[in-house]
Amino acid sequence: MADCVFCQIIAGKIPARLLYQDDEVIAFPDINPAAPIHLLIVTKRHIPSLAHLSEDETPLVGHMIKIANQLAREEGIADSGYRLVINTGKDGGQVVPHLHMHLLGSRRLADEMG
Ligand code: AMP
Ligand code: ZN
Repeated sequence: MADCVFCQIIAGKIPARLLYQDDEVIAFPDINPAAPIHLLIVTKRHIPSLAHLSEDETPLVGHMIKIANQLAREEGIADSGYRLVINTGKDGGQVVPHLHMHLLGSRRLADEMG
């Protein structure tokens, strides 16, 4: 998708500090961090949101969690704790319509769920 910011990062047209990359996902820091550690785990395929995920694609989300857990260990927050978030659609607060997971940590996050 030519006008998608995450597709452009994947294509190397917009710079990002890549922390992880494989055939399925890439990870880089959020440009507007909401916590001292705020990374994004992004599918390489342009899937608009969780609501657009086919049944066959469901294991991709498990892979995103695996990579998020790995990054949490690398960032030293596996023991202190962290939060994984996938905003979905308008009411879910999704701004970039390309499937991604937020990894947030390194401070006590707010108790509110929404
Ligand atoms: P969401 O609200 O779940 O769609 O989150 C989208 C996230 O993408 C926001 O936290 C933005 O700060 C982040 N973001 C947007 N553009 C970029 C970019 N070029 N590089 C890194 N993060 C970005
Ligand atoms: Zn995209």
